[in-house]
Amino acid sequence: MSEHKPTSLGIALQQLGITAEKLDLDHGIHEVLKRPKRALIVSLPVKMDNGDISVFMGCRVQHNDARGPFKGGIRYHPCVTFDEVTALAMWMTWKCAVVGIPYGGAKGGVCCNPKEMSIFELERLTRRYTSMILDLIGPYRDVPAPDVYTDAQTMAWIVDTYSRVKGYSVPESATGKPITIGGSEGREEATSRGVTFCIREAAKRMRFKLKDAVVVIQGFGTVGWNAAKLLDEMGCRVAAVSDSKGGIYNPNGINPVAVFKHKKKKGSVVGFDGSEGVTNEELLELECDILVPAALENQITERNAANVKAKMLAEAANGPTTPKADTILHEKGVFIIPDILANAGGVTVSYFEWVQNLTREHWTVEEVNGKLEVKMVKAFKDVLDLSKKEDVDMRTAALMLGVGRVAEAIKTLGLWP
Ligand code: NAD
Repeated sequence: MSEHKPTSLGIALQQLGITAEKLDLDHGIHEVLKRPKRALIVSLPVKMDNGDISVFMGCRVQHNDARGPFKGGIRYHPCVTFDEVTALAMWMTWKCAVVGIPYGGAKGGVCCNPKEMSIFELERLTRRYTSMILDLIGPYRDVPAPDVYTDAQTMAWIVDTYSRVKGYSVPESATGKPITIGGSEGREEATSRGVTFCIREAAKRMRFKLKDAVVVIQGFGTVGWNAAKLLDEMGCRVAAVSDSKGGIYNPNGINPVAVFKHKKKKGSVVGFDGSEGVTNEELLELECDILVPAALENQITERNAANVKAKMLAEAANGPTTPKADTILHEKGVFIIPDILANAGGVTVSYFEWVQNLTREHWTVEEVNGKLEVKMVKAFKDVLDLSKKEDVDMRTAALMLGVGRVAEAIKTLGLWP
């Protein structure tokens, strides 16, 4: 495995190895946690609009459910692999434990290019995928949610397919749904709102003001765009954003809402009035106070870490930083809010959605955001306190907290038979 292109699973296992050593973890439990509890690979034949049949690879990986039912998003992307989904499932296990919600970790993926598919093709693909993993999922087994290139509509198709097969309505079978069918207020921005709570708490500790703090964000999808909007509302200056086609930069700040409208019309942030173009690589090295990766894994590596100028790195994306880059950033004094803490707001509000569905309640947006703030602030404090107590960086502390809680649950449950 070469370090500048490590696999996500390689990174996840390396992180687990370091954490196991720090925690002096029982060898058997370490072995359990290295592997998913269950995984299913499916082949998905889908009738395309032109009448042809295309076959897609899909999978659902359930890493560990010692702390509660499996929970995790579904990703549609041409680069999806079984190993990547396994790493993402493992990170979900630690994340749910860090933020203290009663779930285990899972993830799903379909290797496809949604940008080249019609909405009808995506609906058929989603329904076929749901039917193929149906025995594994369910409100008390494993609850899917959106991830890269899936959204509330995708979740609606999953709930409908699950409900039609069961013969009754099961809104609690997926989260991140549209509000009209039982989705939660505040879910759409939840991941980004959680990121901003962490940034606010970190800024307090670092004694720097968020007013006019310069922010650079990679990725302008659900998480990146909402983070840009919320940080702009908090008084930060969003200087650069990007998507898969490239980035835009204006040191005086850009208006996220105007960029969102531009992207809706033109299909990309690129070409936004009053900005200069930057590549995704250049964007990560721009002068700024806060860098927010909100796209894919493996973006900050040993190749570019030394050139990162941010004081704070808030990992909205999963796995954006490699272990070698981590060391370089740590030595440079960059304060890192690791992914399993920073982006835990999404699964937290997914948990709130599930609770609302199970109790047939609908909470106000104020209630949802208030409960989210309590959870995120506590998780941030727990990780920071542990990092001080153990004299480790924030990522190691978050992993120690998450893995430690999962290991404790496994030990307490015992082994059957
Ligand atoms: P999304 O599909 O809504 O957006 C993805 C964004 O990344 C798009 O703007 C896309 O253009 C951009 N992108 C894709 N490839 C890129 C590349 N090579 N370089 C730069 N940008 C690129 O996805 P999302 O839900 O916003 O997820 C983004 C990240 O946040 C992922 O790592 C995901 O796992 C993580 N995450 C999402 C949630 C959630 O609730 N959606 C929760 C936790 C973590």
